[in-house]
Amino acid sequence: MSAVPGQARVVVIGGGAVGASCLYHLAKAGWTDCLLLEKNELTAGSTWHAAGNVPTFSSSWSIMNMQRYSAGLYRGLGTEADYPMNYHVTGSVRLGHSRERLQEFQRVVGMGRYQGMDLEILSLGDIRSRYPFVETHDLSGALFDPYDGDIDPAQLTQALAKAARALGARVERFCPVTGVRREGGEWVLSTPKGDVRCEIVVNAAGYYAKQVGAMFGRDLPMMVMSHQYMLFATIPEIEAHSAATGAKLPLLRDVDSSYYLRQEKNGFNLGPYEMNCKAHWVTKDDPFPEDFSFQLFPDDLERLEWYIADAMARVPLLEKAALTKVINGPIPYTPDGNPLIGPMPGVPNAFEACVFTFGICQAGGAGKVLAEWVTEGATEWDMWSCDPRRFTGWEDPDYCVKKGMEVYGHEYAMHFPHHVWPEGRGKKLSAVHDRTAALGAQFGPYNGWERALWYARKGDDVSEAAQRTWGREGPWFGAVKAECEAVRDACGILDLPGFSRFHITGPGAAAWLAAQITGKVPNVGRLGLAYFADDMGRIVTEMSVARLGEDDLLLITAATALSHDRDWLLRHLGEGLSLVDLTNEWSTQILTGPRARDVLAAVSDGDLTKGWLTHQAARIAGAEVMLMRVSFAGELGWEIHSRVGDTPAVWDAVLAAGAPLGLRPFGMFALNSLRVEKGYRAWKGDLSTDYTVLQGGLERFVDWTKPEFRGRAALAAEQQRGVTKRFCTLVIEAGEQDPPYMATIWHEGAVVGELTSGYYGHRVGACIGLGMLKAGVNVPGTAVEVEIFGVRHPAVVQADQPLWDPKNERIRA
Ligand SMILES: Cc1cc2nc3c(=O)[nH]c(=O)nc-3n(C[C@H](O)[C@H](O)[C@H](O)COP(=O)(O)OP(=O)(O)OC[C@H]3O[C@@H](n4cnc5c(N)ncnc54)[C@H](O)[C@@H]3O)c2cc1C
Repeated sequence: MSAVPGQARVVVIGGGAVGASCLYHLAKAGWTDCLLLEKNELTAGSTWHAAGNVPTFSSSWSIMNMQRYSAGLYRGLGTEADYPMNYHVTGSVRLGHSRERLQEFQRVVGMGRYQGMDLEILSLGDIRSRYPFVETHDLSGALFDPYDGDIDPAQLTQALAKAARALGARVERFCPVTGVRREGGEWVLSTPKGDVRCEIVVNAAGYYAKQVGAMFGRDLPMMVMSHQYMLFATIPEIEAHSAATGAKLPLLRDVDSSYYLRQEKNGFNLGPYEMNCKAHWVTKDDPFPEDFSFQLFPDDLERLEWYIADAMARVPLLEKAALTKVINGPIPYTPDGNPLIGPMPGVPNAFEACVFTFGICQAGGAGKVLAEWVTEGATEWDMWSCDPRRFTGWEDPDYCVKKGMEVYGHEYAMHFPHHVWPEGRGKKLSAVHDRTAALGAQFGPYNGWERALWYARKGDDVSEAAQRTWGREGPWFGAVKAECEAVRDACGILDLPGFSRFHITGPGAAAWLAAQITGKVPNVGRLGLAYFADDMGRIVTEMSVARLGEDDLLLITAATALSHDRDWLLRHLGEGLSLVDLTNEWSTQILTGPRARDVLAAVSDGDLTKGWLTHQAARIAGAEVMLMRVSFAGELGWEIHSRVGDTPAVWDAVLAAGAPLGLRPFGMFALNSLRVEKGYRAWKGDLSTDYTVLQGGLERFVDWTKPEFRGRAALAAEQQRGVTKRFCTLVIEAGEQDPPYMATIWHEGAVVGELTSGYYGHRVGACIGLGMLKAGVNVPGTAVEVEIFGVRHPAVVQADQPLWDPKNERIRA
């Protein structure tokens, strides 16, 4: 047995398409002292048996970015690596069965155009000109993606490995990593061929990622599904068509029936994502195997019968073909179906690029993203959708299995803005959950915490089916309007369990924070919004800061940001400072509206004359609470922070006091409506690393008098150059749908920006868009258009101030 290289700067564990792409992109970035360790032969995991489809289509902006990049990379890779590459760019026809599906396609066409791709909507008549063998009588249209294609996954992996080797990186096969330990600031990886020391490790172990993660003390949120495709023998008509046209048929995806059908040689490859799907390796009698290299599960055609029949009805030629082979292999899933790419939470110098469900079409982009994380500590595109820190550690195996199966069975489903997927619910309940449920709360999960989205009134349709619409109006609409009006005219209360909160103390804590954030640290007794920028001046996160004492800081942030923000703070924490995570000990209610002071006066001993952006300790119903005078709803209001055990008593007291004053509970849909009217940004929608602090229109949170803070140099340079695009507020004549994320803004026939939020503001009675607009066009009063599901709607650029209560008089009342 030859010895393994004893040292490398980076070790990538796993030699599938993704691991090979990580190695290639690291080497390409100049980090050539990298070593890939593969337990078997390259491709032995999921890669060898993958069908190799390479779509660019995605309804997620960041995933589309990754897939678009992959397709571009694969086009040139064969030549670059001097390796034979079967990559067929056949295009694809994605069939739509409903108006909603066509709207989804229209949205993706818009996103694709913004990314430089020309996807095309096909009318019923056009479909057969692209795909002559398909039945169209029951369809509503289709999408043609000219960039779609298929690649040989093994060749892709070998070509990436070869190109990486040519740049100086190394690959060691038949070399499993069996253990890891930390020694003197380095990782030491044990293998049967000897130890390897390295600075940085990447877990690219595919469906083995949980086992590899466990070596680092990390419990990965994932599970493994069985996924099949079937190969059919030659069909003379297909053979004749290819001979006549000199091309393969485009890939056909019947997304509403949930399968793809691809020409394979002169026959077909049929791959369903079946509802009656099967998870593997989740029960004691089906243990995870030590080694499954190049193995498959037994065929399980029974699960696929409905899909075969449906495909035969859609493309009757299929009936003529003999089934020749079934491939049934393991495919890993996270609870949301997106992979894990980025820093390994809580583990130094360790990264993840694993749990890929579409690892062939995403490998190229994933390698780029991973290499940027490793070499630069940040990525070009905001990649929150794939960031391992979007999971925060509570996702138990039961949850992972249920969500994985749900995602698999709905792989091609539409993701409607008001729809909540039913699996994996009820995992984290507020202390007053039963009370809000009794009041009609319709819940949705936020980092697992069930929060009221809206409160159903008697007779409101609360079915899941009613949520499946792109339309603004659904059963919630009237209720949300009433909730917003209560907040405007009287008072509302929103139960918000799960806010992330970090208590930072120690000598110099305030000075340390000042160097981390762009703005000022609030004075003792006061609150402030703090923006954290990266070295490029881009928006990493936003937290509320309550200064409890000179060097005593409470940082509060979104529930979903728990791991991300804790990781960021710990990574940069000053020496001698302590960070205590109080997230699970406290809960929050927002009490807001013109009568909020009267409600609070009836139950608390706090000094309610204290101004906006102050905090104080007080008592409600005998419990110690913290009152913070802020309101994300943009009205007079306080956040009431109470210990979880005290929360029910506090809730009861406030509700009882508020009842005669018109207090009513409100939910997250209303909060979204209220906050867009105030131009308040939402994290990872409006606030992301896709934008700098200056682009985000957050100058008032930049304290240029500070000699140093992270991102200062980049922001100063940007300011000198001139900010090319900037945050904007639009009022849109939007019709029936509010604009989705990344809806494009048009001016004089060209795209000049994009929306990061779009929602209806009930107080101002208009659809409001928050987004980014080219500097020259971002002039109040300018008429622009917003493309919403393929239709351009008139909109007007607003002044750089909130639409509701621009002078903040109501908040300061
Ligand atoms: C039937 C089927 C069809 C599919 N079709 C497509 C498709 O058309 N398009 C698409 O994009 N995706 C498809 N997929 C998914 C795709 O196969 C995977 O997403 C992709 O192969 C994942 O690549 P990877 O490199 O992340 O993981 P893998 O290919 O699983 O590679 C992980 C590697 O890590 C190695 N390893 C594990 N543990 C260790 C250790 N301790 N030490 C060293 N090495 C280790 C393994 O041996 C393995 O080679 C399909 C999957 C299936 C099952």
